[in-house]
Amino acid sequence: MDKIEHIGIAVNDLHASNALFTKLLGVEPYKMEEVLSEGVKTSFFMSGPNKVELLEATTKDSPIAKFLEKKGEGIHHIAFAVEDIEHEIARLKKEGFRVLNEEPKKGADNKLVAFLHPKGTNGVLVELCQEIKGV
Ligand code: ZN
Repeated sequence: MDKIEHIGIAVNDLHASNALFTKLLGVEPYKMEEVLSEGVKTSFFMSGPNKVELLEATTKDSPIAKFLEKKGEGIHHIAFAVEDIEHEIARLKKEGFRVLNEEPKKGADNKLVAFLHPKGTNGVLVELCQEIKGV
């Protein structure tokens, strides 16, 4: 894995949190995007070279809705950039990690993504993301 690509934070109200993080980081979100398949609305901020993603649930059975219900607002996942997501999934499976979606799916911010089950990673939901090239 290359580096931390972004940190994902679950929020109740994306509009309010966009205003809060704009004040906190001193920059506006550079992108807002809805991912229908995941039932989320997201916004992305740059903080220097680093990225923060805010996620709000748009449906009751969205993974973010379930997370908020159980744990409340807070850090939801850490995403690592990978060059070749299929290769990385195969490698991690061989190492005994449980991959939640073995078929990479299209996430926000022009990425192919896969998640590891937090039970196998000290309670941290890990996202792998690979830039979709050439479109
Ligand atoms: Zn993410």
